[in-house]
Amino acid sequence: MSDPSLACACLGPSGDHLTRRDFLAATAVSLPALGWPAHAAAPPRQPARDFVLEGSWALVQRGESQVLVPDASVRVRGGAIVEVREGRIPGTIRRIDARGLLLLPGFISGHTHAASGSPTRGIIEAGRSYQRPLEIVETLGDDDLDALTAYNVAELLRSGCTSHLEMSLSLRQAQSYVRVARRWHVRGFPGGMVPGTARLFPIWRRTNDQVLHDSVAGTLAEIDANRRFALSVNGAEDGLIRPMMTPHATDTHTPDTMRALLAAARELGNGLHIHLAQGVGETRTVQRLWGKTPVQWMEELGAFELPVFGAHMSGATPEDWEVMKRHGAVYSHCPSGGGAGASSGTQPYPEALTAGVRTNVGIDTHSNDYVENLKLAVICGRARARVLNAATRSTLKLPTIQDAVHGATLGAAQGLRRDDLGRIAAGARADLVAIDVSGLLVGSGAPGPEPLSNLLYANGLSVRHVFTEGYAQVLDGRLVVDDEVRVVQRGAAVVRRIWAQLQQEGWFRG
Ligand SMILES: [Zn+2]
Repeated sequence: MSDPSLACACLGPSGDHLTRRDFLAATAVSLPALGWPAHAAAPPRQPARDFVLEGSWALVQRGESQVLVPDASVRVRGGAIVEVREGRIPGTIRRIDARGLLLLPGFISGHTHAASGSPTRGIIEAGRSYQRPLEIVETLGDDDLDALTAYNVAELLRSGCTSHLEMSLSLRQAQSYVRVARRWHVRGFPGGMVPGTARLFPIWRRTNDQVLHDSVAGTLAEIDANRRFALSVNGAEDGLIRPMMTPHATDTHTPDTMRALLAAARELGNGLHIHLAQGVGETRTVQRLWGKTPVQWMEELGAFELPVFGAHMSGATPEDWEVMKRHGAVYSHCPSGGGAGASSGTQPYPEALTAGVRTNVGIDTHSNDYVENLKLAVICGRARARVLNAATRSTLKLPTIQDAVHGATLGAAQGLRRDDLGRIAAGARADLVAIDVSGLLVGSGAPGPEPLSNLLYANGLSVRHVFTEGYAQVLDGRLVVDDEVRVVQRGAAVVRRIWAQLQQEGWFRG
């Protein structure tokens, strides 16, 4: 093979090795019109969605349980998984060699802000606020915004995160996310945060509640604009795009604006995604204003008739966890929220698991490495549980990698009320990720007997193949839905300009 970077473990019909380029060329079908921008390069050809993925292990759905199956073969046809078995499937079907790899359902992040990752990463961890960089993002033109969104969505895919509950920080950012997601076959549950960044901070950081009451008309206008956009793309790309309504939090809304959000979410039929009980301050504010905790207030308003994903929840009370559990709502635990855990402390993941609440692992803002976040959830969660158990004589559950993977796949799918997602089983959508659990640094040179534990030594770069709805997005660790080098260069150009502006404003001296 002429280009070593294209070396890949794909096998042709007769069992011969194919390079990644061969695989793409030999199986190419033309893409439908996807709204590809005129200035962009032509989309790469996409492999036909008919192949067998041959892994050393797969986490397979058997009834209610996720079961590890050795030497697993997963047959994909169109957008669905059509067969799963231990051992190899005979015949001349095109096959992808995933020996040494663990096959998992594509990860579902219950909380992302895609365009905000790379502009804040590496500059806020020492304690600076992310506010100003994010305000600058909101001033970008559509092309720059798309370049930034693409860089960050590429990272999510690269680390095996195929489904995103995406709370874009404004309607414009949600539109950008949808443009990128549609081009790359991403399964998106997007929404523009309300209030969006341009209006949020004075309302959120108010010292007088009159500011909140005065914001109602503007917030209702934002809700309506988001609702209209969401309806226009609901079900796009054969159902890959399913917008949700995404209020910022309970302390930036009134009963009128929250009711309008819930009405729009009911109309869309995909659920509500919110920062919920983010801290003690939010809980106190909502208690002062409406006489209940944030979770109890949402229940009173009827929110939990819908799928609900609540992020962070550091201000939740034991009674709040009971409400969440009763309604099958999902706690999106974001262990790297605040900057790779640097400034956010630990979060109540053990409390939620102990209470029996459906608990997902989400990305939030600054790290898009889903595997790294799985690890952080387990490691930080165990540390928190041990300290609290010793200090308060409580008996909090110590989170396991099985808990984290379950929440990243089946648990999130159940919270979305989607029995066709989050599982490797015949009939499920073909959202799949293959992760190296046997190679250098992660494994022992051979597939081990408990491959989920090897994830505790892995990171996003250990992900080798990623598929959504049967579409290949990453093969052999390289993005194949676009020119990866170009995506990185365009994303970098935008971030450099943001850094230059921050420099000019003296922001780095702060
Ligand atoms: Zn967030």
